[in-house]
Amino acid sequence: MTTSNDLFSKCYSYDVPTQIKAAGLYPFFKAIESTCGSSVVTEGKRRVMIGSNNYLGLTHHERVREAAKQAIDQYGTGCTGSRFLNGNLVAHEELETQLAKFLGKESCLVFSTGFFANQGSLSSLIGRSDVIYSDRENHASIVEGCRLAIGDTVKFKHNDMEDLERVLRTTRSKYEGALIVADGVFSMSGDILNLPEVVKLAKKYGCRVYVDDAHGLGVLGPQGQGTAAHFGLTDEVDLIMGTFSKSFASIGGYIAGKAEVVDYIRHKARAFMFTAALPPAGVATVTECLHVVQEEPEHLTNLWKNARKMKLALNDMGYNTLNSQTPIIPLLIGDDMQAFAFTKKLYESGVFATPVVRPAVPEGCALIRTSYMASHSEEDLNTALAVLEKLGHEFGILGNSERQEQLDGIAKTHFGQKSQPAPTFDREPVHQYA
Ligand code: PMP
Repeated sequence: MTTSNDLFSKCYSYDVPTQIKAAGLYPFFKAIESTCGSSVVTEGKRRVMIGSNNYLGLTHHERVREAAKQAIDQYGTGCTGSRFLNGNLVAHEELETQLAKFLGKESCLVFSTGFFANQGSLSSLIGRSDVIYSDRENHASIVEGCRLAIGDTVKFKHNDMEDLERVLRTTRSKYEGALIVADGVFSMSGDILNLPEVVKLAKKYGCRVYVDDAHGLGVLGPQGQGTAAHFGLTDEVDLIMGTFSKSFASIGGYIAGKAEVVDYIRHKARAFMFTAALPPAGVATVTECLHVVQEEPEHLTNLWKNARKMKLALNDMGYNTLNSQTPIIPLLIGDDMQAFAFTKKLYESGVFATPVVRPAVPEGCALIRTSYMASHSEEDLNTALAVLEKLGHEFGILGNSERQEQLDGIAKTHFGQKSQPAPTFDREPVHQYA
């Protein structure tokens, strides 16, 4: 076999990670030795964690940990099969009933991951003559669902309702069924979907609405029910998808909506039918998180108190935080290598955050994605702020009007940021669409 037709030749010549490692800047796969959620120990040193999705800090909540242990005693460690066949527990069904009620939907189906929930739901629902209208910043699992679906996908500019209307006006009549799909809270920019406008356009053009609330569950809405509840539009959103890998402290995903639609997905989605069920400890963790968010509102209150403090402080320092209105607060850096170098310095200074580079964001739009938790202490947050301020100056991002103008330009061009959001950031529905 000559090397040129060896399937593996591309693997042998792929050297991007090696180059970044050689420069001493590789920021991925940091192995965590121990964690309490809001901080981690890596390489023997404690670091404040501002790069997780553990918004409510429930991974270490006493009741949640106890519930997970009890589930192992009752059911064992795994389901060893698909829910369709031998892996369906009473605990899965109880979780679905309780979650549907919490979300204000008739029915709910629990998948083994959020990725599968998107992939399975979208690919099973969309037929040959149907279409998906998908926001350009949607999560990779939506992109995979769209790819697998046999119908077409039409993309619209991120959270740009004029562009959504343009694509609807010019293409809707070519198709039978149509679904508008978008994240409720966008995972990189932290901005909130303009759901009121999406719902209006869906009505005008005869589309169904599907919201991926991976980052909305536990974060938005009166008790953390998510984006639809935040806007008071639960009945107008046909399908709410979400994941348990963030606020709900585990792994797994769900789709919630009308009973007939959920039942159709239950019997058609290959990513549901042909994979093993969410394990007992995961189911119990999520069920207990559901109880905790309803019985202990202080977690949601703390989350927003902490997020607000950080957003205001980072904006005051002069960081461009895009359109973020949630506990996800990106810091726009621009160059990929600089984002890696910045992350490395953060890490060395005792702060764990992650860079976001191509292809997750357009070229030249690298970010440091920071996110905040209910369980961060004032001391944790002040440590992070002091380090971010020092490094911002060291890297010429802060106190440099030319650089700040350049970053504002990038934000406008690539993230649709019209201006820095006003500091009215709060959990209550005080947002740009109110
Ligand atoms: N949707 C969004 C918006 C996400 O951010 C993620 C996870 N990063 C997923 C779906 C997939 O969820 P999971 O981790 O449960 O597979």
